[in-house]
This record gives sequence, structure tokens and C-alpha cells, in this order.
Amino acid sequence: MSNAVLILLSTFLILHGARAQEIKIGVLFDGEDDELTEWIFQTAVESYNKEREYFPDNDLVVVIEKIPRGDDFAATNAVCKLLEQGVIAIFGPSGESSQHVQSICDAMEIPHMVTKHDPNQEGLNSVINLHPHYSVMAQILVDIVNLFDWKVFTILYEKNENLPKLSELVKMHDGKIHIISMKQLDQSNEKNYREVFYDVKKSGDTRFIIDCSTEILYDVLIQAQQVGLMSDDHSYLITNLDLHTIDLEPFKYGGSNFTGMRLIDPEDPETIESVEYLNNLNRESSDSDDKITPYTLRTEAALMIDALYVFASGLKELDIVDEMLDEESFSCEEENGWKRGLSMVNYMRTVDVRGITGNIRFDRQSFRTDFQLDIIELTAEGIHKIGLWNVTEGLNISRTGTLKQIPALEGSLSNMSFTVITAISRPYGMLKDSSLTLVGNDRFEGFGIELIDEISKMLGFNYTFVLEPNGVYGSMDKKTGKWNGMIKELLEERADLAITDLTITAERQKAVDFTNPFMNLGISILYKAPTKQPPKLFSFMSPFSSEVWLFLGSAYMGVSILLFVVARMAPKEWQNPYPCIEEPEKLENQFSMPNSLWFTVGSVLQQGSELAPIAMSTRMIAGIWYFFTLIMVSSYTANLAAFLTVESLSSPISDAEELANNDVGIMYGSKKGGSTLGFFNDSSNEVYQKMAQYMTDHPEALTSSNDEGLMRVQMHNYAFLMESTSIEYITERNCDVSQVGGLLDNKGYGIAMRKNMYYNDALTKAVIKLQEQGMLHKMKDKWWKEKCGGGACSGDADTGGGSVALTLANVGGVFVVLVGGCTASIFVNGLEMLFDVWNTARTNKIPFRKELVDELKFVAKCSGDTKPVRHRNVNRSSESGSGESESLKSKESKRSKSSPKSYGK
Ligand code: ASP
Repeated sequence: MSNAVLILLSTFLILHGARAQEIKIGVLFDGEDDELTEWIFQTAVESYNKEREYFPDNDLVVVIEKIPRGDDFAATNAVCKLLEQGVIAIFGPSGESSQHVQSICDAMEIPHMVTKHDPNQEGLNSVINLHPHYSVMAQILVDIVNLFDWKVFTILYEKNENLPKLSELVKMHDGKIHIISMKQLDQSNEKNYREVFYDVKKSGDTRFIIDCSTEILYDVLIQAQQVGLMSDDHSYLITNLDLHTIDLEPFKYGGSNFTGMRLIDPEDPETIESVEYLNNLNRESSDSDDKITPYTLRTEAALMIDALYVFASGLKELDIVDEMLDEESFSCEEENGWKRGLSMVNYMRTVDVRGITGNIRFDRQSFRTDFQLDIIELTAEGIHKIGLWNVTEGLNISRTGTLKQIPALEGSLSNMSFTVITAISRPYGMLKDSSLTLVGNDRFEGFGIELIDEISKMLGFNYTFVLEPNGVYGSMDKKTGKWNGMIKELLEERADLAITDLTITAERQKAVDFTNPFMNLGISILYKAPTKQPPKLFSFMSPFSSEVWLFLGSAYMGVSILLFVVARMAPKEWQNPYPCIEEPEKLENQFSMPNSLWFTVGSVLQQGSELAPIAMSTRMIAGIWYFFTLIMVSSYTANLAAFLTVESLSSPISDAEELANNDVGIMYGSKKGGSTLGFFNDSSNEVYQKMAQYMTDHPEALTSSNDEGLMRVQMHNYAFLMESTSIEYITERNCDVSQVGGLLDNKGYGIAMRKNMYYNDALTKAVIKLQEQGMLHKMKDKWWKEKCGGGACSGDADTGGGSVALTLANVGGVFVVLVGGCTASIFVNGLEMLFDVWNTARTNKIPFRKELVDELKFVAKCSGDTKPVRHRNVNRSSESGSGESESLKSKESKRSKSSPKSYGK
């Protein structure tokens, strides 16, 4: 609309001097922020009056009525009032009362120009709706959510009447892949939505769709920010078409993603020109400073301008202005409507124009169909257009939103429903015994069932248990690469979670994901409990191992010989056999070889002997030997008591190696298609390979369940390879079987699910939390020890391993002390002899060397327990000894001084 046109039009009016006739239109405003829209509309009307392109001879006159929002009565009165004034079209209102206005207009056949979506307008003839249809917007929202791959999100909406816009999103909720929560922004609490946001925050959701009016949009966003829901992790999709018109400065830098839509393209040259034109006009006519920009022009105001445009276009087409003006007014009471009203509506329906909100076309129901929406995103630099939607091409995004993985947190699975598959395996998943017919989840009980229940309470999801009919857990057919059992059910999406004693294995982990293990275990052997052995004839030998007996015998012989030798060397052990003879010809030694043996055995048996060592060295040997025997005898006695009271048990096998090499014909196997069999098949250990080969050669040795394995162990000569936790459960209840050997490996049970499911993280965290709280331990005690006959074998737990023969390791120290004592005594004995030889040599004035050689020669002969007195004059009295031998020696000494003798041998 150029200035030239305006000037021409003005000139035309002045020349004709005609007074333009009035065309009245009524406008209903019911919003708080309608001032801006009001002046924009007034200015737009003014522009038509000025341009005269559409109504050359007439003036458009706007009659405005303001009504309280939601007051239907006031709305009805206002419409009637407007009609009485002769308005031939009504614009607005934008609030809920629009419906009432519509029905009056429909009855009076007055065109009603609507700028908000109204689901009830179908079937009404007088309505022209400029707002994009909600069913189309609903589909656009779904397209955006799918494009951004949002699976879990919360919809925050303000008004129930807007729900049709969100209906398609809500329909996406399937409780499995798409989890959609809805929360209404509380309108009772004066623009305070923080409570809702606190709730949402607790749920852990990070993606939000916000549907609210432009009036509250800023408050809603700022409060979400205050509550802490605007970090890098948060994403928002705003359904309101005015996102770009509010102050987004506070939200630009927080890192949250904002995606929105707009009907007005502020960069479109025509929009810019139109807005500029309105601003100029406003400035000219009212000297007002009010100014709009394409970026602050709200959708409602733009739709009002376009509605006016459509009205003007329709009226121009109809060309009935004069006729129309004959009718001064209409009355609600008399229901005398406008005869040409419906024709006018029909003309308007057929318009095909381009307004500020793009192409304007209507379908038969007067809904706007062919429109285009810009998809926008907020960045630190401001709003950016990232794509667009139109009827022909649908959603076309040049850059997709960020696909951040949702950090799954506690409570984030609320409203989800999982199908949980389990297999009957005691005590993980069991069928409840009940006289009543149980249905649904009530049919099951067990550790796994309770675990899922506990996790569901923590995370808020629902679950339905289903059963793997054949009890197959899942293994891959190496030829076809296909899985069976519970894993197959997961992969084919018939179940979302799998729980039982399902072992986490590398192979399974390639196909599915597991949570952290909720239980740790290893493979072991279930076999018949060891049988009690009859007492052995020589069970008195049992307290010491044969090694200790051997050492004991050697020690006895060694000490006896040592005592014999030392006694021969010790001068004091040579005694006068006949005390009454003062000068004996011979001296006697009590420690002959037999006496030495007797002395040591007497002390071992704690009976003593009449022999009493005299010399220091022999006494040292005797002392250390007494000490040795004290310890050995006490140890023997103590261990013998244990051996006599505890009956020993025996089992033909004690570990996997013995089972693999067994020649007593024990058959063995594991569960078919289980991880235990997989362990043997994949092992590089020779023994396990041998066992795997055995099981391959004897498929009949494999069982289809742990219970079958137990039955075979009880009934046949069969060993069942199974997992330690299950063995523990069985041996708590079946005293005739027990675990043989230790664990062959280390692994855990986990909850399985399809790969990359977003709920894995939440489930894992829940498992860890239950572990930390000691809940898993408590549950294990309950299902293992208390429920279903647990603890029945706790008294039979003795496996005969309580008493074991003492080995050298247990008593080795005593032998060391004995050896040490004996060595010391040899040293003392040498000193004793050397001193005696030196003394003799000095007294008898013979060379020391000769005397020593003579003495050693005598000792070395090792025979005879008598020793001729060689030197009568030898005085041995200088040494200490018994009182008796002391006097004897002094006498002997005195005599020997006068008559020295040699051995003469
Ligand atoms: N728990 C095992 C599995 O998951 C069963 C077994 O082989 O013992 O396959």
C-alpha cells in the first residue's frame, strides 16, 4: 500500500464530497493484555478506511465491547448489544466465552471471525477460524518429538480446552518406549507454578512440553528456572506460537534447549512492511509512541489483522454493501439475523490471500488448513529458525535438536509398565502354593519377584510377570546366531525385563544389557552328602600325621643316641659303682645304650625311669626332651579327643578334577542351555575341557532344571554342576546332598533387558541402592534360610572336617627347640670333657694332648658302660656334683695321689 495510493484515494473522496457510509464490525476483548491488540486492530481498520481499496464508499467502524474473561453471561449481553448497533461481523473474543458468541452468531447468521482454536465449531455455519487447527498442530508436535527422539517427557499444560492440541502426544504413551507424564499448571495459585515444577523435578524428567497462554509463558519459564529445571540437561518444546515475542534473555545462556513454533515469520519482507505501515499510521493518527516490531507482534493480533483482511476480501467479493446497510440493526430476542450473513461467510471461505500469518485458505468447515509454521530454537544469540512445517512437505528441519541421553534417575520410570519374564527356578521365581486360584502377578513369589517389586516401588513403574514356559534362560545357536529362551523373548520385544538366576555372560551381553549383578556366585558341584565312616582300628594314630610320627620316632632315636654319647663324654656320668669301695678300679656309666633308650621312652610315656642324669650336659638333654614330650603328648591328647568324638565323613570326590578323572563311574552334567554348560564349553582349562567333552558325549547327563539335577543327585550316582547360590538353597533344605569342592569361577546374576534401553541406568542404580541398604542381603536370608523350609539342615552342617591330623607345620616348633637344646648340650658336654682332661693332665703331669686322645679313644669305642680308673691321683673334687659323689671323688683323689695308674688297655 503505497503513499501514492493513499493520496489518490483521499483525493477521490474529497472530489466526490460524499460522506462515506458506515460498515460496523464488533470486537469482543476479554483478555488482560488486549490493549496492544486493540490498537493494532484499530490501526488496521484505519488503514482500510484510508486506502478505500476494499470499501471505496464506506467507512469501517469498530465497536468494541470488553467483557470479563470466562463470563459467558457478559459475553452474551455484549454480543446482543453489538448486534443491536447493527454490526455485521463479530471478531473475538479469544477466551472461553467464544463458544457462546459463536452460537448466537450462528443463530443470527452473523459472521464470527475467530482467532483461537475451537473444537466445537464443527457444524456451525457462521464461523471463520483463522487459527491453525489443533489436530494439525498435534501432529506437528508429534513429528518434532519423534524427530528429536524424545522417549520420556512431561507435558505441562494450562487449560483443558487446549488438550486436543496435545492429544496425539498423549497417545504416544505406551508405558514401555514412550513414557509421557502430564501435569496441569495450577491456575488457582496466582501465577505460582513452582509446586508443579518441584514435583516434576523430583520425577527426574528432563524434557518438557509446555502448553500455556502467552500471558503466563514468561512466568512459567522463569519459575522453571528458579526451581532448577534449566540446566544443560533440560529441553523444552513450547507449543505457544508466541515464544519469540516474550523476553527470552534470562533463558539464553542456561544451556537448556528451547524449541518453539511461530506462525509469523518476522523476517518475511511483507510482514516487515505491513508492521511498518501500521506503525506509521499509528504515529500519524494518534501521535502515540506505541510501536510494534515483527518480533513483538503476537499471533493473536496478527490473526485479528488477517481476520479483518479476510472479512474485507469477502465483503468485496460479495459486493452487497448498500443492500446490507439497509438493515440498521439486529435483535437477539426477535432472532432477526442478517439475510446475507451466510453468503458472506461462504465468500470468506473461498478467499485465497496472503496475510501476515501466511497463506490464508479455509476448508469446508471454515478451519484454516494451508498454513506454514516456522520451527525455532533459542540459542545464546537469540531465536533461530531451524526448520519449517507446511502441509505439503510436513516437518522439515535443517538441524535436529540435541539427542541427549536422559539421565535416568529415581522415580523417572513412573507410569511405565514393564513386562517381566521369569522362569521357574527356586527361589528366584516360584509359583505360589495356594488353595485359591491366583491370577496375574499374584501367581508368583521368590527372590527375583520381590526384587522387581522393590525396584518398582523405588522407581514407580508397573510390571506384569510372564513365564518362560520351558524354563530356558537363553543361549545362542552358534550356527544360526539365533537366541532361545528368555533372551529371545526380550529381543522379540515380548518382554522388557528378564529376571531369575540369569547369569551375566559375555555372550549374552552382546545381545542384551544387564543391570549390575544383584548376587555373586560361582559354579560348584552338588553331590550326595559324605557318608559317615566306621571308626578305624588304628584311629589312635590319627592325631598326628604320618610325617609327625616319623619325625617323632627319629627324634626319639636321635635323642637316645645323643644321650648315650654325651653321657660317655661327660666325666660326671662315670660313677663309682660300689660306694663302699673307696678306691674303685672301674667307674660305671648309667647311660648305656639300652638305658638311654629306656630313659627317653620313659619320659615320652610320662612314666619316668630310675635313671637320673648327673652331668650338666645330660641334664640339659633330659630337660629339653621332657619339654618336647610335654608339648607332643599334650597335642596328641587334645587332638585324640577330637578324633574320638567326631565321626569322619567320606566322599568319593572332593573337587572338579577328581570328578573329571573319576573312575568310580559318577555321571555328571549341568543345566541344558545354561551358562554353566557354556562355561565348560568355552573354557581353556584342560580339566574343564575334558568335562565339557564328557557332557557333549553324554547329553542325557544334562538336565532341564535345577530340580531335575537335584533329583538325579539324590536318586543316582550323579553329580550336578550348578551355581553356588542355588546349591546353598538346596543344601539348606536337602540334608542328603552337599556342595563338593570350591567355586570354579566367579560371576553374577543380573536383570536383563534389550540393548540401550534408557531405563537400564535407573534399574542399575536401584539395584546398587538396595545392595547398600542391606536389602538384598535381607532378602537372601529370607528366601534362603527362612521361607519354604529353609534351615532344615543347619544342624547337619558338620562335614567331618572338624578334626584333622596334626602335621609338622603344627608341631614343627617343638622339634626345633629340641634340636636347639641338644646342640647346646653337646657344646656344654665338650667343655665338661675338656676341663676334666685338662685337670687330669695338670694333676698327673702328663701332656694334655695325650690325655685328650686317650679319653676320646675310649669314648669312640662306644662299648662298655665301665671305665677303668686310669689315674689314681686324679682329683675331680674341684667340680660340683652330688654330695655322695663329691665325698667319693675327694677320697679317691687323695688316694690317687700316692698310686697313680694307667688304663693299661
Ligand atoms: N544361571 C544359569 C544361567 O543363567 C543356569 C545354569 O546354567 O546353571 O544360564
